[in-house]
Amino acid sequence: MPLPITPFNLSGAVGRELEYLTRCLSSGQWAGDGPFSRSVQALFEKKFGFPRSLLTPSCTAALELAALLAEVGDGDEVILPSYTFVSTANPFILRGAKLVFVDSQSRHPNIDAEQIEHLITPRTRVLVIVHYGGVACDMDKILEIVRRHNLFLIEDAAHCIDAKFRDRFLGAFGHLGAFSFHNTKNISCGEGGALVVNDMTLLHRAEILREKGTNRAAFFRGEIDKYGWVDFGSSFLASEFQAAVLLAQLEQVEEVQSKRVAIWERYRQGLDGLARSGRIILPELPIWASQNAHVFFLVTESLETRTRLLAHLKALGIAAAFHYQSLHRSPFFRERHDGRSLANADRFTDCLLRLPLYATLGLDEVDRVVEAIIGFYLG
Ligand SMILES: *Cc1c(COP(=O)(O)O)cnc(C)c1O
Repeated sequence: MPLPITPFNLSGAVGRELEYLTRCLSSGQWAGDGPFSRSVQALFEKKFGFPRSLLTPSCTAALELAALLAEVGDGDEVILPSYTFVSTANPFILRGAKLVFVDSQSRHPNIDAEQIEHLITPRTRVLVIVHYGGVACDMDKILEIVRRHNLFLIEDAAHCIDAKFRDRFLGAFGHLGAFSFHNTKNISCGEGGALVVNDMTLLHRAEILREKGTNRAAFFRGEIDKYGWVDFGSSFLASEFQAAVLLAQLEQVEEVQSKRVAIWERYRQGLDGLARSGRIILPELPIWASQNAHVFFLVTESLETRTRLLAHLKALGIAAAFHYQSLHRSPFFRERHDGRSLANADRFTDCLLRLPLYATLGLDEVDRVVEAIIGFYLG
């Protein structure tokens, strides 16, 4: 009998994707900001209380738009975590900024807010935070720093759909927030993203930069009688096909999340004994965070153990995965880094392991993964 295979991630239709795609195809309205895009933005804003949102082709594009709106220029300094995806950093490198990386907390990959303040200089303009796995950063502390030093705050909320800090949804805290709807995220349209505009003074310019530097958005609302080139810009619109799939997914977000949370809890309970015995470390959620079960991870004692555990799981048909490689040590950046040791980020680089997690993963399969991990440690 062939071994059952448990993939790491699996996407699929959860609602009316096919119906909406068919409707989109036959309507002939395929370009951005059509009826599906407007429905997604309206639903997104209504569900999560965001003042405004703009669909983008990806979270990367949303972050690039955010970097333009923040008016980051040559030599400006941007503070951001090292343990993250390259898209958190690239938009600012593209603007000529100097990146100043911050370490993770010791027990969680999120930025160590205690270390931010002494990295601030007169050139610091922007702070970018990432809520890893949809678990909120310490927003009390971070907002206090942002206010005291008059920084521009951008939330890379790629993991964060439907997750909260206390009673407020993530993505609502920064001047701008960026979401991802990539295939690997909880809610997906293959490639896709959204820029959340919380500081409404930025909205007018956001619309222009997103529309190739033109005031086309205002023209289509009938506010002006012709549109033209009024600023620099680029193309940051998602197509209606993306929006059609996204609308169907977003309509089912509660259902998807409740399944993911049940899986997450099952892993947490199943692996609790191993964590208590000190063989692995499991994430502890801060009391302010209500998460969305984007990631379930454990931390091994060493890279060598993680490599053996990965191979053990693979041999049993279970696809676990490590995650980011610290950006300050990357081939692209290590020569530019200022030499500070970021030991927690490096430890998560070497020792963090993510377990399979997607809405259709059965709890019996979760139990099989848990047993395989217990078997590895206790033989
Ligand atoms: C996935 C991800 C991105 C990029 O998202 P895309 O939509 O693929 O551009 C950015 N930041 C983080 C933290 C991510 O996990």
